[in-house]
Amino acid sequence: MKGYSNVSAQMVSWVKTDKSRLESVRGIEKLFYPSSMNELKMLLLDLIKRHERYDTIGYASNTLFRPSYHVRNLICTKYVNEWYETDNAIVCDCGVPIGPLSREMVKKGYAGFEGLCDLPGTVAAGVYGNAGCRGCSVLSLVQSFSIMDEAGSILEFSPEDLKPDYRTTNLKRGLLKGVILQIVLNKIPGNAVELADKAECHHQYRMKRQPDGANNLGTTFLGAQLTTKGKRVFWLQKRISKTFHCSQRKAYKIVLKLIGKKQFVPYLWSWDRYMFLSPEAHDLFDVYHQFLNTLYSDLQLEIEVRQ
Ligand SMILES: Cc1cc2nc3c(=O)[nH]c(=O)nc-3n(C[C@H](O)[C@H](O)[C@H](O)COP(=O)(O)OP(=O)(O)OC[C@H]3O[C@@H](n4cnc5c(N)ncnc54)[C@H](O)[C@@H]3O)c2cc1C
Repeated sequence: MKGYSNVSAQMVSWVKTDKSRLESVRGIEKLFYPSSMNELKMLLLDLIKRHERYDTIGYASNTLFRPSYHVRNLICTKYVNEWYETDNAIVCDCGVPIGPLSREMVKKGYAGFEGLCDLPGTVAAGVYGNAGCRGCSVLSLVQSFSIMDEAGSILEFSPEDLKPDYRTTNLKRGLLKGVILQIVLNKIPGNAVELADKAECHHQYRMKRQPDGANNLGTTFLGAQLTTKGKRVFWLQKRISKTFHCSQRKAYKIVLKLIGKKQFVPYLWSWDRYMFLSPEAHDLFDVYHQFLNTLYSDLQLEIEVRQ
């Protein structure tokens, strides 16, 4: 198994723009890349037996690493990536990349994958965070999955056990702990030509409306309940959008300038999608988070922050 000692989180980070600060600390004492399910299980059992602490990531496409991040053992699952088909299911190792898998399943004519073809990350992380897009979600395809818990036992779960809600589950809430090993997905027969057309439409939609994947982690913030200040800000945004016939995204940036917050403008794709374009963007992230807290009473981070 490939492994490294005393490395920086830059090595695994999806966002690459905090390089000098991340590299100034070697926060990961041991970084492991198991290359099969067997290696992953053996590694976990060994760490558990030695009472070692560990953390798990896939592609880190939903995880922001801070320079203060320190971990004794980090396991990256992206090479634990085999899958096979049975009569009615697709059995995936935790590190199977959801995008390429979905493209393959669309070609084979299995329904439910057509919106997931551009989703970055692993199937397991998709289960963990209830990831989805364009009307499809990873969890809605799941029949069952297995977890190695903190005592080293392998347990079977169904999606309902996770009490999923929008972009969250009991795993993400920390109410269920362990490493997802294998995921069994439903094979739902569909029309391959129609599914390919839908997948292409979803792809075009994404290309037009979203930035490319570099140096952002998808939707960064979630919020639904506006404060009084938030209501004013979004009222102004709507007015500007209507008056000047510009998109809500553009109008939000104009509002920020009007209310003296123009420092955030270069780092926002939209109010909920933060772009980590430079070291300065990392400096401003917490300040923007605090500002958004004044607009929403129920603001949450959609991304995971490791600090
Ligand atoms: C450009 C871009 C666009 C995106 N668009 C979308 C979108 O449309 N919809 C959406 O839902 N998300 C979106 N995301 C977010 C991201 O794709 C998903 O959250 C994805 O599921 C993350 O996969 P990952 O392997 O990179 O997870 P990571 O960031 O590596 O991990 C995320 C969490 O999962 C946990 N985890 C990983 N593997 C395991 C395991 N085997 N067992 C237990 N826990 C595990 C990690 O500990 C971590 O807490 C986007 C991200 C980017 C960069």
